[in-house]
Amino acid sequence: MLKYFISIAIFVPSIVLSQNQDNQLLIYNVGFGVVTSGVGAVINKPKNSDWKKYLIKGIWQGSIGGFLHYAGKKSSYNFITEANNTATYIIPKILHSAGSSIIESSALDKPFLKDWHFEYGPVRVDFSTVGSEKCCFRFLPYFINSVLSISQYHNADNKYVKIDFVRSLSLGVLTFKGNDLLFTNQNYGNAVSGSSSGRVICYSKDLDNYTQTIAHENIHTFQFGEYQLLNTWFNKLVNQFAPCSIEKLFAKYIYADIPYFSIPYRLEGINNENHYKNFFEFEAQRFSTNQFVQRY
Ligand SMILES: [Zn+2]
Repeated sequence: MLKYFISIAIFVPSIVLSQNQDNQLLIYNVGFGVVTSGVGAVINKPKNSDWKKYLIKGIWQGSIGGFLHYAGKKSSYNFITEANNTATYIIPKILHSAGSSIIESSALDKPFLKDWHFEYGPVRVDFSTVGSEKCCFRFLPYFINSVLSISQYHNADNKYVKIDFVRSLSLGVLTFKGNDLLFTNQNYGNAVSGSSSGRVICYSKDLDNYTQTIAHENIHTFQFGEYQLLNTWFNKLVNQFAPCSIEKLFAKYIYADIPYFSIPYRLEGINNENHYKNFFEFEAQRFSTNQFVQRY
């Protein structure tokens, strides 16, 4: 009986604390959508129009987008960490991309639920579900930087990570796999079970919880993608000053995927005593494990 009470005494607070962490992340994700979309909608509103109307539209649409960001990350545990096969790996990305599309449209003063985008490996696809606009395929240049940085990971025997084709296709994110713990020359000899750099991830396939590592690193690619939405704030400014040929190049062939995310990530600290003190590490860990994450 005593054992029973002790296990309840441990279990119940951990559920309550976990629930608090989920609520915190829900507020962050919805808040991120609201701010990004609200500010963008006011910046991109037509001249001489009432900014309050656009702010309100940005806020409600941004909250829906932010909620879908949350849903995409939250579903990573079921569809990746605990998945029986790789067929469900893409579901979190679909939900998350739908959220980003809604936020982007709202921030750019475009119609609600008309334009969508989806990033698959090095390509961004833009398409409309209303009207007859053609699909647009654009290259994501930061992909090159991501490949160069992740492909340097190797195990203690100096065997470099290799491409995991099945998981790359399943996640829509180029994925490398390695044996045992992984090192790079840049991370000062610290062994890791996985890593991510913008658009590319790697993981060690020999560890028991490798699917959790994949889910964790995949969430970092979501975080990287979310901060791309800040492009909507600078859109008007760039279009005013960029020469026509450059504007055309970026409208048709290249998407400027600026790594804004590295700024807030570094501000959260990269060498904290507790790795999860960094908010983005905490978020990736919480959603990939579905367990309470000790942060301090
Ligand atoms: Zn991480």
